[in-house]
Amino acid sequence: MGKLSKSRGNMYDWVTHMWSPLTGCPHQCSYCYVKNSWRDLPEVPTLEVPFPNLGSGKTIFIGHLCDMFAEGVNESDVLKVLEHCRKFDNEYVFQTKNPEGVWKFKPYLPEKRMFGTTIETNREDLLKEHSKAPDPISRANGLGQIEGKKFVTIEPIMDFDVPELLSLIVFCKPDFVNIGADSKRHNLPEPTAEKITRLVQVLGVHGITIRKKVNMERLLK
Ligand code: SF4
Repeated sequence: MGKLSKSRGNMYDWVTHMWSPLTGCPHQCSYCYVKNSWRDLPEVPTLEVPFPNLGSGKTIFIGHLCDMFAEGVNESDVLKVLEHCRKFDNEYVFQTKNPEGVWKFKPYLPEKRMFGTTIETNREDLLKEHSKAPDPISRANGLGQIEGKKFVTIEPIMDFDVPELLSLIVFCKPDFVNIGADSKRHNLPEPTAEKITRLVQVLGVHGITIRKKVNMERLLK
């Protein structure tokens, strides 16, 4: 069963709990901490039932063992999860690399929610080597057209081009940007400290709040 658990590890420090009602992910990212560290992550997700009592007053990250809005995830499973979320008074955090896949579920989303997408780099060629997920332009396009609170996460950060990455992020109109590094050292192509500093500066110029994970210290030395 997909239990409700307290947030831990490298999860965002503003999230209080995690619930993963689906296990398995079509994106199969090379750096996925789940499939690389503690369990197999098949491409086709399975629904973990029965669902737990989600209580109230929490900020719950939904689906750290699956991208619920990826192509190939059973739509009726997603609807069951969203329906269960709507029964409880919490804020739900949904993070997806296929935000265009969210659009069709708009009428069923819980009222208190936040959407995020990962854009590790603007460089499609780098991403293709490490994930089957949609390209960065599709991700920005998808999130840009979602209403409400939202964020972009640049994690695990890969080498990038400052103007191109900036324009993707600005298009998303995020409330904040999270930046994090590859904590498990998967040998990803990483940017220089100078480039990261420049990105942070230009995001600041655009009035975008940045939440930096402590694991960025390794790259900023
Ligand atoms: S999208 Fe997330 S859960 Fe899915 S394979 Fe990639 S890192 Fe793992």
